[in-house]
Amino acid sequence: MRTAEIKRRFLSHFETNGHTVVPSAPLPAIDDPNLLFVNAGMVQFVPFFLGQRTPPYRRATSVQKCIRTPDIEEVGKTSRHGTFFQMNGNFSFGDYFKEGAIRLAWDLSTGSVDAGGFGLDPERIWVTAYLDDDEAIDIWHKQIGVPMARISRRGKKDNFWSMGIPGPCGPCSELFYDRGPEHGRDGGPDVDEDRYMEFWNLVFMQFDRGPGTDKENYPILGELPAKSIDTGMGLERIASILQGVDNMYEIDEVRPILARAAEMTGKTYPRSHSHVASQSHPDDVRLRVIADHLRTALMVISDGVTPGNEGRGYVLRRIMRRAINAMRLLGWQGPALPELLPVARDCMAPSYPEVAADYERISSYAYQEEETFLSTLRAGATILDVAVTETKQSGGATLSGDKAFQLHDTYGFPIDLTLEIAADQGLQVDEDGFRRLMAEQRKRAKADAQARKTGHANLSAYRAALDSGGPVTFTGYAEVARESTVRALIGPEGALQVAGEGDEVELVLDATPFYAEGGGQQSDLGLVTVGSGRLEIFDVQQPVPGLIAHRARVVSGEVRLGESAFAEIDISRRRAVSRAHTATHLVHQTMRNFLGESATQAGSLNAPGRLRFDFHTPGTVSPSVLYDVEQQINEVLLRDLEVTAYITSQEEARKRGAMALFGEKYGDEVRVVEVGDYARELCGGTHVERSSQLGLVKILSEASIGSGVRRVEALVGLDAFSFLAREHLLVSRLAELYRVPGDQVADRVEATVAQLRDAEKELEKLRAQLVLASAGALVDSARDVRGIALVATEAPEGTSAGEVRTLVQDIRGRFAADRPAVVAVTSRAGGKASLVVAVNAAARGRGVSAKDLVKGALSGRGGGSDDLAQGGGVPADQAPTLLVEVEKVLP
Ligand code: ATP
Ligand code: MG
Repeated sequence: MRTAEIKRRFLSHFETNGHTVVPSAPLPAIDDPNLLFVNAGMVQFVPFFLGQRTPPYRRATSVQKCIRTPDIEEVGKTSRHGTFFQMNGNFSFGDYFKEGAIRLAWDLSTGSVDAGGFGLDPERIWVTAYLDDDEAIDIWHKQIGVPMARISRRGKKDNFWSMGIPGPCGPCSELFYDRGPEHGRDGGPDVDEDRYMEFWNLVFMQFDRGPGTDKENYPILGELPAKSIDTGMGLERIASILQGVDNMYEIDEVRPILARAAEMTGKTYPRSHSHVASQSHPDDVRLRVIADHLRTALMVISDGVTPGNEGRGYVLRRIMRRAINAMRLLGWQGPALPELLPVARDCMAPSYPEVAADYERISSYAYQEEETFLSTLRAGATILDVAVTETKQSGGATLSGDKAFQLHDTYGFPIDLTLEIAADQGLQVDEDGFRRLMAEQRKRAKADAQARKTGHANLSAYRAALDSGGPVTFTGYAEVARESTVRALIGPEGALQVAGEGDEVELVLDATPFYAEGGGQQSDLGLVTVGSGRLEIFDVQQPVPGLIAHRARVVSGEVRLGESAFAEIDISRRRAVSRAHTATHLVHQTMRNFLGESATQAGSLNAPGRLRFDFHTPGTVSPSVLYDVEQQINEVLLRDLEVTAYITSQEEARKRGAMALFGEKYGDEVRVVEVGDYARELCGGTHVERSSQLGLVKILSEASIGSGVRRVEALVGLDAFSFLAREHLLVSRLAELYRVPGDQVADRVEATVAQLRDAEKELEKLRAQLVLASAGALVDSARDVRGIALVATEAPEGTSAGEVRTLVQDIRGRFAADRPAVVAVTSRAGGKASLVVAVNAAARGRGVSAKDLVKGALSGRGGGSDDLAQGGGVPADQAPTLLVEVEKVLP
């Protein structure tokens, strides 16, 4: 049964049983600061389970795209772990519970293929339940009829679920399928989880938990009033069972990629005859890694992530590099993605047509990343060659951990390639040393991240503030000031009752006109007054979704919990920020007009009067395009378009062609901002009323900020005008100085610079002649020091180092060959003194060395040879001392 068919049957089974089919959320998890990618079907329903929002349905089903990076090391070595996979799920929000969930799962798993089921043999299904969950065990045994011999009890670590924070938790029950003795040992899932493969996990959200110290240590506060269900069935796992293949890399959606990679590298797959993944030949594992990772890269880029050095971009980069690296280890040297990625596309397009529709954009990022990595590998390989040669020459047999780490850290050269290449050369690598350095680096990175997070030490205080009154209402779309109530005060140690003059606190009101920083827009600033106090608001954040926290300084009096408060924002700042935000939408739309649909937003900043806009595009943006973009934006301003905002369904917004960043969830209500008929975008920010209020938009610069991501900066309104006015003044002043009209200033500057360069060259020539002309006189000035003729003098200020070297050699050449001579000349430049010494053959015969003299005079610094040496770097006023020192150290 093909994967797409399994998916269809799953959704239809649950739809028939009263579930609403909900599309997958995009892979990037945007609502949870602790999660980079969605890793389970329930993630998009979290606000429903936490009771923060009321679900519009009581039963839902979905096939969710998931990424699990922690499983990366398992890929190919087990039969069942992918970095990307799809999780079929069914969900009950306070509707059916254990009995319903178990019955629905059983019916679909064992229902006949003709009747729309999966037709699994009931005798081969094993189940687990939580230690004391007799209720679940009774259902399995008494109602479903699974013999007790195939039911096992498991502890908290495996079979008790919680989100890691206060909220719902409860026991799980998992379904396993026995794939037969050729896959491993008898005895059920407790003995062998690759033979008895988990394919479905049912989570029963039964209890309410309190805060805890770690994943397994927290108090259970009691039963939940409304109990819920969350299940996850690995689509790839059930597919590998139903397709009768050994592992998830051999199902219809993955195998063709593997096959192509094998064909390219001339490998036969599989090379091992065992069905057990852990006994596979390394080449088999590599081919599976390639197939899995390429599919992951395709899906991740398709959902808007591009390779980079941080966060999601880094995860993507790491996955791609592992795949490319595996191709190298199989002997493929050149670019592989142009061959492999189209195969991945064809595998996934039946279920995800967007990967084909958007293939040009996806592949351009992927191919470019491979090019970059291949050139990294070439550079690393050269450095590694040198290190290998050095190690061998010094008689060593082990490449140091330091070197391996440096290659990895500085050049991105993977350790397994280092191992491979070193082994080819008959060398070992100090792997322990390498891992120690890696561990240290990880520790440093973790400490860094911890330090950055301390601002969130108040998480529980925030949650309490949210729980005590629900989401804070933002009223700032419609008003700039309002009366409200102090709901919470939060200090560095947690919740407060009162704060006094001079204190800095976070203030939570029931409703506020203050915009919290978000969507690239900077926060409002302003004032809050209470009975006896005044608070200056210097920042506004949303530390947890739904909670608006004003960071405030109490400038006079005090503020108490429950007091009424009057909040007013700084209006002129708000207006300037809103102008920037509307301008950003225009820049975004206009870039797309000129560069195509794929020029999507990657980030933005809207500050008073200025904006920064980052967007995806593979190449540079030429100055002429920028000029046209700017022109078009300013024409839109003149059209005086009305700017409007309205709330609608996600589906409707998409239908109307609103530009949406990945990340909005299906089913949600969204806010659409329109600038006339010109730009339409999902956005929660504040805007002007009409486009003409922007006045003027001036683009300042355009630059690359990473592979495939460009940044433009622009000024808006008076700030744009002031900038242009200043530039105009500058040009007028230059025109005046050069006595030419403004439009000829550039030519004039160019000509002047050329003249200056010629004059400098001429000057240099003359100075050299002058210096050399003095050589004769200097020879005459030689003094006899212990039988050696010494010329010690300072060159005229401004003599270049090259000129000094020519001078000393010229003077030395004028002495008779049999007369021992030493020439020492100092010079000053840029506040520093330097020294050059030349020694002739007769003096060298007496044991004099130019290098020793320079080092003697400069306490060891400097270098050169016995006949010519130089050094410097000491303060300019020490030049005379250097000459005295040379004389002193002369033998
Ligand atoms: P395992 O112990 O096998 O890693 P898990 O306990 O991590 O599985 P859950 O978190 O319960 O799995 O996820 C629900 C279902 O999703 C699993 O029953 C399995 O079918 C599937 N699944 C989990 N991780 C992966 C993965 N990395 N690749 C493919 N499918 C997966
Ligand atoms: Mg797992």
